Amino acid sequence: MNMTRRTRVVVVGAGFAGLEATRELAKGGALVTLVDRNPYSTFQPLLYQVATAGMGTSDVSYPIRTFAAR
Ligand SMILES: Cc1cc2nc3c(=O)[nH]c(=O)nc-3n(C[C@H](O)[C@H](O)[C@H](O)COP(=O)(O)OP(=O)(O)OC[C@H]3O[C@@H](n4cnc5c(N)ncnc54)[C@H](O)[C@@H]3O)c2cc1C
Repeated sequence: MNMTRRTRVVVVGAGFAGLEATRELAKGGALVTLVDRNPYSTFQPLLYQVATAGMGTSDVSYPIRTFAAR
């Protein structure tokens, strides 16, 4: 039986920093738990386009589960 222990990490906040940290830690073999107060992540640089009706909210936010599944 393989008894190799994997490092467990909890990342709080699924913004730019949290998603990148999660990606890199997972690539390094860690078991990462990503926590956010919302079930979605927002791409803030495009909020101006949403405010001016150039885009819908679903264009700048996506479920964290979608990211986590990858
Ligand atoms: C309108 C706008 C336009 C921008 N344009 C640009 C740009 O063109 N280029 C650029 O480089 N930067 C831009 N920025 C800045 C960029 O979006 C931020 O620097 C970046 O999002 C910061 O990343 P972060 O991970 O630190 O925080 P955030 O992306 O804000 O993520 C923080 C996360 O933590 C979660 N969270 C907060 N508190 C809690 C809590 N108590 N418990 C659980 N979860 C919590 C939030 O829900 C959020 O998901 C823009 C910002 C805005 C608002």
